Amino acid sequence: MQEKGTISIHTENIFPIIKKFLYSDHEIFLRELVSNAVDATQKLRRLAALGEYKGELGDQTIEIKVDKKKKTLTISDKGIGLTGEEMKKYINQIAFSGATEFLEKYKDKGEDQQIIGHFGLGFYSAFMVSKKVEIISLSHQEGAEPATWIGEGNTEFEIAPAKKKSRGTDIILHLAEDSEEFLEDHRIRQILEKYARFMPVPIKFGTREESVEDGKDKDGNPTYKTVKKDDIINDALPIWTKSPSELTDEDYLKFYRVLYPYSEEPLFWIHLNVDYPFNLTGILYFPKLKKDFEMQRNKIQLYSRQVFITDEVKDVVPEFLQLLHGVIDSPDIPLNVSRSYLQSDANVKKINGYITKKVADKLGDLFKKERDSYEKKWSDIGLFVKYGVISEEKFEEKAREFVLVKNLEGKYFTIEEYKKHVEANQTNKDKAKVFLYTTDEQKQHSYIDAATKRGYDILLMNEMLDSHFINHVEQKFEVTMKRVDADVVDKLIETGETKESVLSEEENKTLKGIFEKAVNDSKNAVSVEAMATDDFPVTITLPEFLRRMKDMQAVGGGGPMMFGDLPVTLSVAVNGNHAIARKILDAEKEEDKVSLAKQAFDLALLSQGMLTGRELTDFIRRSVEIASL
Ligand code: ADP
Repeated sequence: MQEKGTISIHTENIFPIIKKFLYSDHEIFLRELVSNAVDATQKLRRLAALGEYKGELGDQTIEIKVDKKKKTLTISDKGIGLTGEEMKKYINQIAFSGATEFLEKYKDKGEDQQIIGHFGLGFYSAFMVSKKVEIISLSHQEGAEPATWIGEGNTEFEIAPAKKKSRGTDIILHLAEDSEEFLEDHRIRQILEKYARFMPVPIKFGTREESVEDGKDKDGNPTYKTVKKDDIINDALPIWTKSPSELTDEDYLKFYRVLYPYSEEPLFWIHLNVDYPFNLTGILYFPKLKKDFEMQRNKIQLYSRQVFITDEVKDVVPEFLQLLHGVIDSPDIPLNVSRSYLQSDANVKKINGYITKKVADKLGDLFKKERDSYEKKWSDIGLFVKYGVISEEKFEEKAREFVLVKNLEGKYFTIEEYKKHVEANQTNKDKAKVFLYTTDEQKQHSYIDAATKRGYDILLMNEMLDSHFINHVEQKFEVTMKRVDADVVDKLIETGETKESVLSEEENKTLKGIFEKAVNDSKNAVSVEAMATDDFPVTITLPEFLRRMKDMQAVGGGGPMMFGDLPVTLSVAVNGNHAIARKILDAEKEEDKVSLAKQAFDLALLSQGMLTGRELTDFIRRSVEIASL
């Protein structure tokens, strides 16, 4: 039987289009052809399992060979094979219609490479790199005759009898001149390692040399010889396909090292395994975070039935989990559609929700069962959790149970625990609990000191997302958050009680006037307050609200732009009950009064790290003078 024919198709010549359209992603032809070989092998296994194929399965290794002289690349499988009739049916009709449909869909849309990379173009992608493609196949069916299909990159094809003794299919690509890179071993190996690393059937590419012991010399030392071994490039049974009960921690760590050879050990991992309402397996690792977040993105690899698809998982994994590492395998993620469609796909949404829930459950579990070790890992996982809490309502609902805050003593609390912790001492006159925090222990030291003396507890909020997280805590937990320098210590938590002032109203006014002169900047608001005699004589504060706007701006997002030119007015609170106040009022000369006030104000600036340049020099000079009086 020799048959020639024409593939009926309304597109005049499909191949140049395929070639041009897929230009930047040529290498996927190999993924497509090896996937087909894997499918053919698995189909045969299934038939054998069902008792429908009675022959020997034998070795099923798929083999890839390069012939540099003939300029061919061959993909051979020992799968179900194709008869001549099937070639006509499957290759001409199914494969071709797949390719045509693809082009019809995307030809004019100008969509970018992403969809193309995800799209299973199938057998015809061979023509992206070949001027001629031969299929030689022997079907597994009893009494089948070997057949060959030859196509030359136009709409004509030829089917003829062939010689092939063993079951299976050889796809022989006669590479086009501009595709000879695919004759290079290293190039093929690189593509296979990318796409076929975990395909479920062994794949052989060439041989590698290995030295093995072959005896002993006269002194009894072992002798070695070099042997050539088939180089199997893949792990056909990666651990995500196994049941967690079969696996040890070491298995997970080993697999992590295979995926990310140069990374530090992960903190912990989650084995994903679900088959309803969608099918998904995988392992997600929580890495130790580096400062450089962007570098850490795109570390999750997406597979479909063990075939690598992409490491861009934007739509499948919630944003806050994109810093995780690992593998997700799902045949239910539609890969042959555009990105915008992917986002609205019901399965993708469900998958997204499922992963979020799994991660929340795992964290909740760790927190409950191993609180100690959870706290130790907090510096690494805190960012994930806070990010999730801020950005994902569903996650927040669960995470409120295990999102932690840390106080200056290094103790960790959930928000509810912390509410209880500070209840007695930090409830204001409106019955609101006030959480005090510092963003910088060093810089805000004098305020921390004053607040601690009052018996207040102080949280450390010095991490990346904390300025957003603070808002979140206020909204979700109904507490008031104040940075320690937001107000003079007496007013941080307003109890409604006022301290007695030792100055008369008249003296208060005079003192205020002196300080206004000394401060010498009308933007700053001076007030005289009755504070404890051992509080600082002057305290400079930046109101919580304004400062927070500024902080959020610095992190990006959140603060309205009109606060662009902060810092705004400082509040200068003068302690009317301090001994210095009296001293200033009692000084004889007006210039001495102002000079003393200036000294007290500068001390406050100094404690905030705000005294610099000329002002600092003047301050030092003045201090020296005072000291040598
Ligand atoms: P798809 O794999 O998406 O169905 P392809 O264009 O890749 O589309 O292949 C079309 C058909 O050709 C397949 O469905 C299969 O029946 C057949 N086929 C392709 N490669 C092989 C192979 N190596 N062995 C057996 N059959 C094959």
